[in-house]
Amino acid sequence: MRGKTQRDTTERLSTIFPHHVIPPERLSPRERSPHRDQSLCQPRLLPGLVPLRQAHAADRTKTYPKSGFITACGEWVLFEDASTGDHGWRLAPRVAAVAPTTLTDGAPATDGTIIFPATWINFLALKNLIQEHDSASTIFPSAAGNLGRGTLGIGARFTTLHWPAVEWAMSALNLGLTANQNSIPRELVYDVDAMLDGTLDTVPFPFIGANVPEGHQGQSVEGMSHGCVLSKLKNGFHHRRIAWSFNADHQPIGGKFDTREDALVRGCLLASYITFDLSPELAAGTRAKLADIDAALVAKVRARVAAAGLTLDEAAFTALIEQVWPSMAKMKRRDEKYAAARAAAFTTDAGRAYLRELSIDELPGLTTAETTAVMLALCEALGMKIHFVAPAFGFQKNMPYPDNAALRVLIEKQWTVCRAFDASIGFHSGSGKSAENYQVMGAVTGSRLEIKTSGRYTYEMGRALFASKNAADQALWRDWYRFTVELALLGAFSTDATERKMARSFITDALAKTNSPSDEAVVFATPAAARSAIEALAPSPEHMFWFEYNFLHVLAAEGRAVKSALGDHTVAGYRQRARFYAISEEGRLGFAKNIAAYILFLAENTGLAPASVVATAKARLEATTSLADFHAAISL
Ligand SMILES: [Zn+2]
Repeated sequence: MRGKTQRDTTERLSTIFPHHVIPPERLSPRERSPHRDQSLCQPRLLPGLVPLRQAHAADRTKTYPKSGFITACGEWVLFEDASTGDHGWRLAPRVAAVAPTTLTDGAPATDGTIIFPATWINFLALKNLIQEHDSASTIFPSAAGNLGRGTLGIGARFTTLHWPAVEWAMSALNLGLTANQNSIPRELVYDVDAMLDGTLDTVPFPFIGANVPEGHQGQSVEGMSHGCVLSKLKNGFHHRRIAWSFNADHQPIGGKFDTREDALVRGCLLASYITFDLSPELAAGTRAKLADIDAALVAKVRARVAAAGLTLDEAAFTALIEQVWPSMAKMKRRDEKYAAARAAAFTTDAGRAYLRELSIDELPGLTTAETTAVMLALCEALGMKIHFVAPAFGFQKNMPYPDNAALRVLIEKQWTVCRAFDASIGFHSGSGKSAENYQVMGAVTGSRLEIKTSGRYTYEMGRALFASKNAADQALWRDWYRFTVELALLGAFSTDATERKMARSFITDALAKTNSPSDEAVVFATPAAARSAIEALAPSPEHMFWFEYNFLHVLAAEGRAVKSALGDHTVAGYRQRARFYAISEEGRLGFAKNIAAYILFLAENTGLAPASVVATAKARLEATTSLADFHAAISL
């Protein structure tokens, strides 16, 4: 039982910095010690507002010189208490009337400036002040520019280690991207208090035959929202005036998520791009009766589908509408909540705008053109502009599509529909396709697409550690590899048929690709035989079993390869996660360069950036040999 005092502390902490909150009693002495570079990602004790002021008064703060921006009341910079990693805003007022109450908890400093803690509440207020002064500001994520037509979705694995790489690529290409993206609540903690109370739900992972707690990446959605903006300011990215977006990916609609949709809406307040995932309601199997749906709306949908050139027989049309109507009605209700939350928090159109994606690739089978058309027509009739729609093309994560001609035919069918509705195509499970696959996607859609990538960047971390000469990086890599070996062996002899089949296929793929004996009957004859086969392999981030299990290591309690340790939101999980944030400068540079290189590859092949621009950026990236130079190139 948590006592009142503890609860108060927790609440206070979560107001201050929602992404670091772990109650102090859960932290080890090592984690209590400050770490400036990791300040946004390391759970640790927050000393609160008073010490921040004391640090400022005693000149113990570090100011980020590139972070400057202007609002009607004056000039702002971001600073950090060098001893604790806490952040604050310093305002040099331009007009006499500016009071410390511009934001919350302000205090006048002796030099005539006013300082404010970088709290969540101040962050929201600042967004509005900035956009009221300059609606085209690119400090916060937005829906501006080409973001609603063509983009790359970059899943933000490893947050502060990751964002600068995306900033670098956007700067080098002069191209706005979906620079912050994660599925909520699947990957991100949607509510820190629910995490602290131990009431997070679990997500089934059939391939490991177990459920893992939600938020397996170990950061909160508010923390991601806050951190990605601070990263832009520290690196001066905002001076380039390149609009970027934040995608709250796969927002679950209906089913068991009905009860917490208000919490999801609250958490995703700063997302400028919402992906609606109807699968929870569809999986619940609810059905409407055609007679109960507004007849005028149905007529409108029927006419619109016909106008888009598709003929649906009446029985098929009715069956489809009756199947999807309950989820569409819930999507509409949720959409109104996202809009209302933004209208309540922000006063400008720029601050309230958000993009919409409709994800239908979770439905079984390949999506037919008719289904896409009906879904888009329904959204249109309900007044929800869809910027991206994600049909199922039968993609496997991290696997090239084997037949480019067949892929072209599939995409052309969908594109004919999308064009009629002025929507772009979202390619989910978009990582790891071939250059030719991306070229087909770009050519057919005229680059009106989004490639969603996420797991790829955990792989890039593995590659960076594997290549690093730093001893601690190597130790982390070895532990990480060992973890996946143990999970694979565990799975290969599981009593769960799906888990066993998947684990064996991952192992045999690695064996076959390294020309090792891979006959399943021999390899899996006994657990000992399987172990000796897998242990004969030279460790490599290219092995499929490493790729498939790797993300689970990040928040595994003490890095242990047992199912009960996965997605651990106690200090044991966060201590494990902290290892990644403590990698060497060489490891960080390698990780950042890998991400940037992958973004350049995607931008070139999808046609989002001209080949000549990509070639220049590639040469610059290859010539970058220090992390400081990498960060310096982000700003003008
Ligand atoms: Zn999807």
